[in-house]
Amino acid sequence: NRQWVLRRRPQGLIQDGDLELVESPVADPGDGEVLVRTIYLSLDPTNRTWMNDSEGYLPPVGLGDVMRGLTLGVVEATRSDRFKEGDLVMPMSGGWADYAVVPDSQLRPVHRFPGLPLTANLSVLGMTGLTAWAGVTDVLRPEPGQTMVISAAAGAVGSIAGQIAKQKGARVIGIAGGADKGRWLTEELGFDAAIDYKNEDVGEALDRLAPDGIDLNFENVGGDIMIAVWNRLNTHARMAVCGLISAYNATRMPPSPNFSRIITHRLEVRGFLVLDYAPRAREMVAEVGPWLADGRVKWKVHVDHGLEGAVQSLNRLFTGDHDGKLLVRVSEE
Ligand code: NDP
Repeated sequence: NRQWVLRRRPQGLIQDGDLELVESPVADPGDGEVLVRTIYLSLDPTNRTWMNDSEGYLPPVGLGDVMRGLTLGVVEATRSDRFKEGDLVMPMSGGWADYAVVPDSQLRPVHRFPGLPLTANLSVLGMTGLTAWAGVTDVLRPEPGQTMVISAAAGAVGSIAGQIAKQKGARVIGIAGGADKGRWLTEELGFDAAIDYKNEDVGEALDRLAPDGIDLNFENVGGDIMIAVWNRLNTHARMAVCGLISAYNATRMPPSPNFSRIITHRLEVRGFLVLDYAPRAREMVAEVGPWLADGRVKWKVHVDHGLEGAVQSLNRLFTGDHDGKLLVRVSEE
């Protein structure tokens, strides 16, 4: 059983030696436990935050511990009366490993969505879709004609959030790195405009594309991109703080926006965590599922092969070198 163990707290992008791939015998499940073989490992920006020794919504991964991560796998041995061999399951934190022994209380059964690949469970109809749906429909609540700006717009969450907002009638501007990502947003996903933050001045582009200001912000990035949006938020604008990826590798605190705008413009700024929306997953599937079926919402997954490459794969999230929800295929379905 290969397992990635955290050896050192990374400074900046993860370097060789921060994690180590160790090998140990596959453990047997105890009473009430099952042995899960990992099929897919979900790589998420938040994985990087769990490596830091700082306050978070979950405790940091301990040095010497197997790296935490959301997985989808199959039950290979069981001493639980709730799961049988061959069941597909999603352990809450199966971890970066070929196999994990997991208490049955921490397992969620996986049901295949008819006509969709298994990867949908870890992306558009899984956590990614739920995050996008919660941020748009619960936090931002767009009204037709409102202007919404989304950062990391061509990423897993951003691309779905923008398409959901379009279904609600918003005018959607996406910020993403590179012309190809921008073209995908406008030509295939129906975004109204895209800003290439790597080659354009974001503030100038926003002034041009949103001359009447911004009503809604789905924030995934933070830092200078967020501040450019923040300074153009209209009175009574709403901001859903989903993620601040530009800070996850940072060794110094990024600049803060001017908080007095919250008062002068009566802004509603709300952070949210997908974990709180788990009970509403069915509601999300009921709304988004039909949009997938009739092609109104499109989605992509980027699958890297092999647990051994997980560290290099995770770094893709910070360079943007991936195309859709990032997954690692660990073993055969
Ligand atoms: P993505 O698929 O969006 O990948 C991350 C993207 O972020 C990259 O592709 C890159 O796109 C962009 N990016 C990375 N670093 C920077 C930077 N310094 N400046 C600007 N853009 C950058 O990942 P996810 O969809 O999984 O996650 C998106 C955000 O949502 C993250 O902030 C994540 O933490 C957050 N999230 C929050 C959840 C919650 O419960 N609140 C749940 C899930 C995710 P590009 O090529 O355009 O630079």
